[in-house]
Amino acid sequence: MSYVDEVIERVTRENSNEPEFLQAVNEVLESLRPVIEANEAKFKRDALLERLVNPERQFKFRVPWVDDKGNVQVNTGYRVQFNSAIGPYKGGIRLHPSVNIGIIKFLGFEQIFKNSLTGLPIGGGKGGSDFDPKGKSDREVMAFCQSFMTELSKYIGPDQDVPAGDIGTGAREIGYMFGQYKRIRGQFEGVLTGKGLNYGGSLARTEATGYGLLYITEEMLKSHNIDISGKTAVVSGSGNVAIYAIEKAHQLGAKVLTASDSTGWVYDPDGIDVEALKEIKEVNRARLTEYKKYRPNSEYHEGKGVWQIKADIALPCATQNELDIEDAKTLVANGVIAVAEGANMPTTEEATKYLIENGIFFLPGKAANAGGVATSALEMSQNSERRSWSFEKVDSNLQNIMATLYHNIDDAAKRYGFEGNYVVGANIAGFEKVVDAMNAQGIV
Ligand code: NDP
Repeated sequence: MSYVDEVIERVTRENSNEPEFLQAVNEVLESLRPVIEANEAKFKRDALLERLVNPERQFKFRVPWVDDKGNVQVNTGYRVQFNSAIGPYKGGIRLHPSVNIGIIKFLGFEQIFKNSLTGLPIGGGKGGSDFDPKGKSDREVMAFCQSFMTELSKYIGPDQDVPAGDIGTGAREIGYMFGQYKRIRGQFEGVLTGKGLNYGGSLARTEATGYGLLYITEEMLKSHNIDISGKTAVVSGSGNVAIYAIEKAHQLGAKVLTASDSTGWVYDPDGIDVEALKEIKEVNRARLTEYKKYRPNSEYHEGKGVWQIKADIALPCATQNELDIEDAKTLVANGVIAVAEGANMPTTEEATKYLIENGIFFLPGKAANAGGVATSALEMSQNSERRSWSFEKVDSNLQNIMATLYHNIDDAAKRYGFEGNYVVGANIAGFEKVVDAMNAQGIV
């Protein structure tokens, strides 16, 4: 049995109740086969893969808080510090009822390679809780965030572990968490990113993941002599990533036809009105059913369905495994040119394989959505030097990072004979730097 197969078998045995984590490990190790086989004896002797797939440490903790009726609620909090070979742990906090240790581990594992791909000195981590901010009052959200941070503050720090936002954790939640950290530790420091602009946040961080997704998609298309301007796109989600992906797509001359949330989706043949979307989601925290009030010509449908709308580009920006094999077949039949993942692992393994086999340009999330964490690292730089950069400076750094990232994954794929396969390219390019650092630091 090859070393990769041995490790996959062991990880599967030891984590059998964590399907998302197994899916992520499987996808990464399968595509790393050519690199691992070229160094099999050394990697095996050093148990390199066993160390890579085991987090350096993980925390699970109780989060008690009092709701508006005076009842005590208890949620579970997690932080997984996966790999610090190239820098302090960095990765968001997900607040969603579906959160469990397997989901946090899958996200933390992916984060190692994503952070490496940004070219910036950040290691991989992730955290979260099964708390659902939806439908809670501001006071309840604050009570939860304060309790969550009271425990988390023991394990994080600006040179140790720097969490950020993710699903369910936006500017409001980061603000409450930062306030509590400062109160407990007595230090005003860059321990979280995604902060408000008046207390250490970076301009362009809010936009960064969505903008970065479009910058890398544009770069990839350009390298294949395709102009993004004039193209149509379908987007899923209507949160932070989706909103700014739509905004940048429109600025680049493309037209986005759809958006969705966890209850339904909208089709707007005239192009999604991003200002309306911001008001519905960022200001009113309402459902997409409201969209029709702004755009009477649009259609609202319950359930999932954005992938059935014919378009040149598909941008899944909601959550994991939201684009399956049937969706992939529909996209291919409708003549899609490119799929770029704004969310983490939104495309199932089967769907990814189908898209690549059918010649679709496919950019995996760990490359395509790396603009968010890259800009978080720029926020850390600004906090360290106690200065704020202009929007233009951050945005032009982001553009350079995404363009360089694209060429790095393209080159890595070519070097190993997988030209055009950006899944393989991203995994190899991300892995090489981390492994080099792990080797240099000895058996730790
Ligand atoms: P938000 O919470 O702002 O938005 C998430 C969107 O996805 C909402 O429209 C939400 O609908 C929808 N959604 C969430 N869960 C589900 C589900 N189970 N089924 C259907 N729809 C769902 O999160 P973000 O935009 O920040 O994150 C979206 C994705 O991008 C995630 O995979 C995240 O990990 C990834 N990502 C985010 C980064 C960032 O900087 N924010 C950076 C890199 C990756 P509803 O409002 O109804 O819940």
